[in-house]
Amino acid sequence: MHSKFARVIIDRAIRRELDYAIPESLSARVGIGARVRVPFRDRRALATVVALLEETNAKGIREIEAVIGEGPTLSEPLLQLARWIASYYCCPIEAVMRSLLPQVIRRAEVGWKKQQFVETGSIVTSERMEALRRRAPRQAELLEELTKANAALPAAEILRRLSLNVSTLQALVKRGLLKISERAVARDPHAGEQFIPGPELLLNEEQTAAFATIVRAISSAEKAKPILLHGVTGSGKTEIYLQAIRETLTRNRTAIVLVPEISLTPQTVERFKSRFAESQDDVAVLHSHLSEGERHDEWHKVHSGRARIVIGARSAVFAPLKNLGLIVVDEEHETSYKQEEAPRYHARDVAVVRAKIEKAVVLLGSATPSLESYHNTLTKKYELATLTQRVDNCQMPLIRVIDLRQEQRSERAPILSERLRTAISARVAKREQTILFLNRRGFSTSLLCSKCGKARDCPNCSVALTFHRSMSRLNCHLCGHTAAVPKKCPECGQDALIYVGFGTEKVESTVAQIFPNAVVKRMDADSMSRKEAYRETLRAFRAGKIDILVGTQMIAKGLHFPNVTLVGIINADLALHLPDFRAGERTFQLLTQVAGRAGRGETPGEVFVQSYTPFSPSIQFARHHDFAGYVEQELEFRERCDFPPFKHAVLITVHSAHQERGKFSAETLRRKLREALPEEFMVAEAAPAPLEKLSGQYRFHILLRGSAITRLSRLIRETLDKLPMPEDVAVAVDVDPYQLL
Ligand code: ADP
Ligand code: ZN
Repeated sequence: MHSKFARVIIDRAIRRELDYAIPESLSARVGIGARVRVPFRDRRALATVVALLEETNAKGIREIEAVIGEGPTLSEPLLQLARWIASYYCCPIEAVMRSLLPQVIRRAEVGWKKQQFVETGSIVTSERMEALRRRAPRQAELLEELTKANAALPAAEILRRLSLNVSTLQALVKRGLLKISERAVARDPHAGEQFIPGPELLLNEEQTAAFATIVRAISSAEKAKPILLHGVTGSGKTEIYLQAIRETLTRNRTAIVLVPEISLTPQTVERFKSRFAESQDDVAVLHSHLSEGERHDEWHKVHSGRARIVIGARSAVFAPLKNLGLIVVDEEHETSYKQEEAPRYHARDVAVVRAKIEKAVVLLGSATPSLESYHNTLTKKYELATLTQRVDNCQMPLIRVIDLRQEQRSERAPILSERLRTAISARVAKREQTILFLNRRGFSTSLLCSKCGKARDCPNCSVALTFHRSMSRLNCHLCGHTAAVPKKCPECGQDALIYVGFGTEKVESTVAQIFPNAVVKRMDADSMSRKEAYRETLRAFRAGKIDILVGTQMIAKGLHFPNVTLVGIINADLALHLPDFRAGERTFQLLTQVAGRAGRGETPGEVFVQSYTPFSPSIQFARHHDFAGYVEQELEFRERCDFPPFKHAVLITVHSAHQERGKFSAETLRRKLREALPEEFMVAEAAPAPLEKLSGQYRFHILLRGSAITRLSRLIRETLDKLPMPEDVAVAVDVDPYQLL
């Protein structure tokens, strides 16, 4: 018996689910999770079926027009996950649906790539072949090749291989000796790469113990807690992931590996592909650099069950694997797992919930776990597995903190302290490699008038424009606004402009001047705008063709370079003084991660941390590799101030091009929230955001905190629904925010 009606969620946001009748002709194909086309108002819309019904109270019911794709596109567990995201993150379900399915799948506009295949037609007698060989040797060659193959081969490929042209093929087709057919082929982003099967390594003692915990969880997944694998950089976490995947596959279940976009390097993918190389189709890769076609193919490879392992960035948490058994979240502390537009979900937390829905195991790994996850191990919500030693028994690098206040002999801030300079010089002489890290792009961070004191600010944002020497222009890093460099101060007309502050571009040029014999290269979003530039630079660095690599966070993560024996952190204070309760945590993580780059080979590494606040706890604890000490004091601070992980935070941003209207709306909303919310929830006053103006929008913040987050989300939603905002005022709700500026 087929159902009569389907309840659907329309892609366009209307925040309501609608019922449609299922016509007889489509009834076999309309299931939960199917994509359909429906009439909507005076137009058509695409929608997802979320329930099947026998009856409905809806009036003026209309019919589903068509089903898109073959079967259900979304599984029931994924629909359940979508509902959870919508309610937890206070976000319309349509927006969640948009994130759940890549656009190429939602719209079904891109199909499989078609390729022409050729195979033999009728059987050819040996006399006929002999005759052909005499009259048309090229045709004979092609025909023989295909007879030998006894299968359909891609036409273009075989012609290329035999150096023949199309006319030869066409002649044979005309004679009825060959047949041409069109077939769908997968566009493989890793085609042509060879993967040599890598052996499983013998786990060391610590790894064995950690792995045992994981295997225990895998064998009783329905009641397993999430596992946090806290292992110092180079302790062999990835090897454990690989073996946990193997363990999962042998139980006929599938696995997702999430890595931060920035660590999704060919090197990473290769490690997974080669371990499971016996059947390369097993591993699918999902990330933002795929072409539409590639994304289509990889997605279907997963959906059809051909791929059993998915590696990808944030959105791969929605990979349509069936029978999911394991989700690995590598570098679980990474803030790039948080999506900064609606739905503002955190992929690690979504992974934990998806694993629960699908009765799978979730394994979070990091050298510097987030306080949220670590706190969950203290309260026994998560299980903890620890790796304290590097696999190669390398020493942890020596971290030296340099007090920049002592260095300021000249009036200008130094880029390299005397000691860092000496250390680099020693490395250059020994032909060892150095990484210099600064999380700020550009040449000078502002252009100031030394007479009137005015800086060149972005007209759209409340930040100074950065000077980029390579472009000879001023640039806003927030909205992309660019401006010519003025000769005189546009404010007071005097010829007194000076450049202040520095970014990676200036570090690169200064270092190149100081060490004329060294090869210096920069790696940041400016110099790496081409996709290949990134690979090329890494390859050159690995091959030892670069002595000093200067870069932003692009180089801070997960890269292995045995010959790097020195890491310099040019300014450790950059993150520390942001108005963000996670500033200390970020600094600790950054220092620890960057330090993990040094000394992975034979030679022990050295790290120099330059700072004007060398005694701040996050720097000192990082220096002593003291995670436990750091966590203890940081948790105490968070608890005292009612910050996460003790309370959930929700940040509401009200923004408008009109300052007054934005302010008024924010204050009104704040008042309504205070009235609607029980006392247990804290509602801060509406206040201008630290970054008050962004892309021409004035921004106001309301910070809320509380324990019962689902309830808080619901009450916020209800309050917002009852409070119409002026047309030019927009509101964004961010649950568990990471971006507090
Ligand atoms: P992490 O992910 O913790 O940074 P990796 O898994 O990348 O560490 O391991 C670091 C290096 O040690 C890699 O080259 C890896 O192949 C190697 N390795 C890991 N486990 C073992 C082991 N049990 N025996 C030998 N080498 C190992
Ligand atoms: Zn701007």
